[in-house]
Amino acid sequence: MKKLVKDLGLPVEKIHAYKNGCMLYWNDDVDLEYCNFCGDARYKPARGRDLHRKKSSYAILRYLPLTPRLQRLYSSKVIAEHMMWHATHQTEEGSMCHPSDIEVWKHLDRMYPNFAEELRNVRLGLCIDGFVPHCQYGRTYSFWSVIITPYNPLPSMCMSSKYMFMTMVIPGPSNPKCLIDVHLNR
Ligand SMILES: [Zn+2]
Repeated sequence: MKKLVKDLGLPVEKIHAYKNGCMLYWNDDVDLEYCNFCGDARYKPARGRDLHRKKSSYAILRYLPLTPRLQRLYSSKVIAEHMMWHATHQTEEGSMCHPSDIEVWKHLDRMYPNFAEELRNVRLGLCIDGFVPHCQYGRTYSFWSVIITPYNPLPSMCMSSKYMFMTMVIPGPSNPKCLIDVHLNR
């Protein structure tokens, strides 16, 4: 599966994270070995046979870069046309069939006219939920998945699983709560 996804040009990045979610070890901090905020170690202590193995991080964030996935939408002429549906469809006055019919969307268009002018610019929705791996209900460990969906195309497309991109899997063991921002800044 990893090889198949790689050949499709859809990479998966593994980014070391601090076990309590204080920070990610990436960009300027990629070589740090201790958390900038609480000073805890990045790697698990090596014991016995582990001494010769690669160091193991307490937590790993799986990041599936969004940009190449969005670019692939424009590699199909049909889908590329649907990506402009939000601006080209007609909705009856007073009814709502798509997020582009609501006032907030129109307000954003007025606030950022340069962005709105290019109809192919992508509007995204983001949702997050926790899940317990291997159906181990009652266990304390959970992952948090971040799913992003483009709101440009017609409702039947942007609400289908094909257009919902799993972008991040945030490691547990518990709800990251407000520290979820540390991961979303990625
Ligand atoms: Zn920390």
